[in-house]
Amino acid sequence: MSRLASQAARLTLDLGALAANWCKLNALNAPGVAGAVIKADAYGLGIENAAPALHKAGCRTFFVAHLSEGIRARAALPDGEIFVLNGLAAGQLAAYRAHRLAPVLGTMSEITAWQAFRDEEPEAERAALHVDTGMNRLGLRPDAFRDLLAAGEMPWDDISIMMSHFVSAEVENDTFTARQATVFGELATLVQEAGKAVQQLANSNQPLRLSLCNSSGHFTESAGRYALSRPGYALYGGNPTPGRKNPMRSVVRLEAPVIQITPVPAGETVGYNSNFIAMRDSLIATISCGYADGYSRNAGAKPDRAGGYAIVAGRECPIAGNVSMDLITVDITHLPKGSVKVGDFATLIGDGLDIDRVGEAAKTIGYEILTSLGRRYERVFVE
Ligand SMILES: *Cc1c(COP(=O)(O)O)cnc(C)c1O
Repeated sequence: MSRLASQAARLTLDLGALAANWCKLNALNAPGVAGAVIKADAYGLGIENAAPALHKAGCRTFFVAHLSEGIRARAALPDGEIFVLNGLAAGQLAAYRAHRLAPVLGTMSEITAWQAFRDEEPEAERAALHVDTGMNRLGLRPDAFRDLLAAGEMPWDDISIMMSHFVSAEVENDTFTARQATVFGELATLVQEAGKAVQQLANSNQPLRLSLCNSSGHFTESAGRYALSRPGYALYGGNPTPGRKNPMRSVVRLEAPVIQITPVPAGETVGYNSNFIAMRDSLIATISCGYADGYSRNAGAKPDRAGGYAIVAGRECPIAGNVSMDLITVDITHLPKGSVKVGDFATLIGDGLDIDRVGEAAKTIGYEILTSLGRRYERVFVE
């Protein structure tokens, strides 16, 4: 391998594990089916990599956040539905039509705009309708929804999915989750009573599908099961049941080469701002990866606060001091003499260092670790 190539960190994406994770969630949502959330470049994996793998596994309903992501997803997906979670981008109606995308509508003005557009362009996709059951972020409030329904003004012909989103489904026995599920169930019943057949099962020809669960919802009894679920994080190997064993297969592995090994005498310091102080004669391995690669600077260590870890020669080694833009220094003093050499790869995500643990070490969540994965990595795919 050339010296140039050896300086790049290596991101290995297991597309077989991604497919297996989707199949698992799809089975958990039976008799409904699972969709897939591929927003934020498929949580950092790359839409072009993840979407076809999910499609091949059987997924036919995809969610992105932005119209631009939808356009990229459509280029990677010949068929299947693509919904744009952040709604109708102003002035972009024609693009939804051109790329066969559907918006997720959350306000009256969006609903009216899409209805008017479909009157002119009946071939445009039917939208999803977002009802806000507690996030207070996106979607119609339940009272507005009830009013619209009671007035007989819901444009059902333009809507194929009615959905809501959980606030904290990852918390075991969460009462908020149960309350949201109850509200959603009540609204679904109202729709049914209003004479609209609600499709509880996939593959039926009935017109409206209900969608509630995110990743964690699949593992929460009180979340309820509906026609379509919308997992994201768990697809990519994140633990949807924090505090319990991760039921998902890991998808992402990040490794970076050791590019120098430096003896540091006791009393000297390492890195910017001297945040590592050698308490004994130490050995520091410098790894070619840093915050410019998306590895969080918050995973650095201070004298009074541990940071993240790297696995070097099979053993966990603490990060020494600050994470730099392009480099991470790791304390390998405790490793057997001669067990590491320049060019060896250190593991930053993988094995015992799963994305949830890496997130915790960086004082954030695994979601942010994934969505920050850098562009400078050499990406390797395995099935
Ligand atoms: C991001 C998102 C999801 C996926 O959530 P995960 O926790 O990643 O499974 C589902 N629905 C909506 C509306 C979202 O914004």
